[in-house]
Amino acid sequence: MRILIISDLHYSGGTFHGLDESRSFDWLYEVIERERPELTLSTGDFGVEADFDHFKPVLEKEYLLTIYGNHDNIELIKNLKNNDGSRCWLEDGLITQYKGLRIAGINGNIARFKRKAHHKTIEEIEGIISNYSGKKMDVLITHEVLEHELISRGRMLGYRVINKAIKRINPKLHICGHVHIPSQILKTNETISLNLDSSTKRREYALVEAINGKVGNVKIVKT
Ligand SMILES: [Zn+2]
Ligand SMILES: [Zn+2]
Repeated sequence: MRILIISDLHYSGGTFHGLDESRSFDWLYEVIERERPELTLSTGDFGVEADFDHFKPVLEKEYLLTIYGNHDNIELIKNLKNNDGSRCWLEDGLITQYKGLRIAGINGNIARFKRKAHHKTIEEIEGIISNYSGKKMDVLITHEVLEHELISRGRMLGYRVINKAIKRINPKLHICGHVHIPSQILKTNETISLNLDSSTKRREYALVEAINGKVGNVKIVKT
């Protein structure tokens, strides 16, 4: 099974920092047309202006599983449905199976205080990690990144609690986004972490093959 991975599409009707973000979904349709994935995994940040119609051409062609980030219409993400009627949303604490692949997510961003709906405190993240611990999982998707010397913009951008999630859950593949730095593949113990940026600035995506729950090598594609 061919899997497409995207992150931080950031659709908007106008420009942001001088970049035209209105073609984000057109780019995604082109990628899907070219790569013909069976499943797309996303770390969220589709853009708050994205609506159901934007997702329609995607959901007609393939299966989508996603969490939400800080630039999402959360209600929309929660209500997106695949062709078979199943939810596209990966709810915290639930493991979704698709063709033998076990996938789960941690939605939203980490903050000291819960000011907005997408915010989670470290304690809340720890609660979700405890929920997942001991359960077998192939792919873990988080919006926030792990703490790693290579995930940096002068200072490290990640959170240690995401490293803890990787260690305790031990997925084969961990996918994250949000920080918008050049996409990279990192290794912690047996887990491959993919930090991806598909926004207008970089337009990178990743491909991976999975057979009976076994995840192959991850390839980053720059467009
Ligand atoms: Zn983002
Ligand atoms: Zn974000």
